Amino acid sequence: MPIYEYECGSCGRTFELLVSRSKATSNPPCEHCGSEETERIMSGFFGRSSSGGGDTASVGSSCAGCTASSCAGCVR
Ligand SMILES: [Zn+2]
Repeated sequence: MPIYEYECGSCGRTFELLVSRSKATSNPPCEHCGSEETERIMSGFFGRSSSGGGDTASVGSSCAGCTASSCAGCVR
C-alpha cells in the first residue's frame, strides 16, 4: 500500500497516511486538528514513473569504458 502525504487546509500541517486503494479518493481527517479539509500531496515516488523509465537507472553502472548514458555508442 502506498503512503500518501496530506496537507490540512485548516491548520496547515502535513501528515502521512497509509492508504489502501479503495480509500485513496476520500480525504482522511487531519490527525492534528481533526478537520476534513485535507488535500493529498504528490510526493516523490509518484513522478518517477512518468519519465519513461530506465534512462537514469543505467547511468554509471553498466559501462565502465565510457561515460555515455547508455552503451549504444560504446563498441567493445
Ligand atoms: Zn489540521
